[in-house]
Amino acid sequence: MVTDSTWQILDKSNNSAVATTLKAKKAASAFVPARGSQALTARQKRAIEDDKVSSPSKKQKTSASSSGSHNNAPIGLVWDADNHSCAYDALFVILHDIWLDNPRIWSKWFRDVGNKHLTALSKGFKQYLKGELSLEDVRDSVRHQLHIEDPDAFPLGDIGASVGRLASEMLRTSHFIASSQLVCTTCDYEGAERDHRLGYVLCPAESQSNSRSTSKLVENLSHEGRNPCPECMGNTTKDVFYNDPPKLLVIEYPGSSMKTSHKIKFETDTGLVYLHLRGVIYEGGYHFTSHIVCNDGSVWYHDGISTGHICHADGSLNLMTDQAMRTCRGRKLVLAIYAQD
Ligand SMILES: [Zn+2]
Repeated sequence: MVTDSTWQILDKSNNSAVATTLKAKKAASAFVPARGSQALTARQKRAIEDDKVSSPSKKQKTSASSSGSHNNAPIGLVWDADNHSCAYDALFVILHDIWLDNPRIWSKWFRDVGNKHLTALSKGFKQYLKGELSLEDVRDSVRHQLHIEDPDAFPLGDIGASVGRLASEMLRTSHFIASSQLVCTTCDYEGAERDHRLGYVLCPAESQSNSRSTSKLVENLSHEGRNPCPECMGNTTKDVFYNDPPKLLVIEYPGSSMKTSHKIKFETDTGLVYLHLRGVIYEGGYHFTSHIVCNDGSVWYHDGISTGHICHADGSLNLMTDQAMRTCRGRKLVLAIYAQD
């Protein structure tokens, strides 16, 4: 478990992208200390316990209030000044906070997406939890993997990456998760259900949607059909829907006036399933920062440069107006992340 030679890590000591194995890496002392050298938060201890004994319904809510909010604080990532890492920092702090709610369930889900980057991230989170790697090591190794695959989209040095592009790549599925169906608006014709390319990252600008909120956007994935009804030649609608409610959903809507819903509802045969807002990413001045929403509704601010390892308490989601959510310390909202409990 400790020595997984498939892990590739950036060698920061000479500021170049030399890959070293984890073994070699662990011996080097020039690195940020791994989690093991720091005190575990109550939440991390709980996550370790959760990981040992399966308890899918376990929630953080009760203990957050009893132990004080500080223990519930998400863990931040320290920005890499040599290889600008803000896109990775902003996204990964949110994904880590979601993952930490239930490492067992989320590790499985991260794996099941069928994407090596997300699998590597999940594996790294686990190693971080055990104190084998720092969270920065985890970030750097996933980033290195992305860079090898697409050096233009995921450069090193002081050129940043697009956080939307990063989310799309991290959540790219190996299989179809949505379907479409042509439905007539006049007669009762319904075409066959077909696989649809819809993924876990939605970009409303591309889908010509005029939805007023993120929850409406997800309700209105359907659009006008291009072909007339084969039976009555009437107009058709192309219904687009997820085969199952997604566990995680990213919505990218830079500069849009769309309202950021606190939750997104999915109707299923067995009842309603909710996804809750778990994070918002902001961009401005060539830098990304995050608001992390814990599952107790507390909001935390992270900026890899100014807050580093720490996240600052920024109130509660319920008390935050949508207007307040659109900007954060001069930066503008570009993307929101939702997850099931
Ligand atoms: Zn028809």
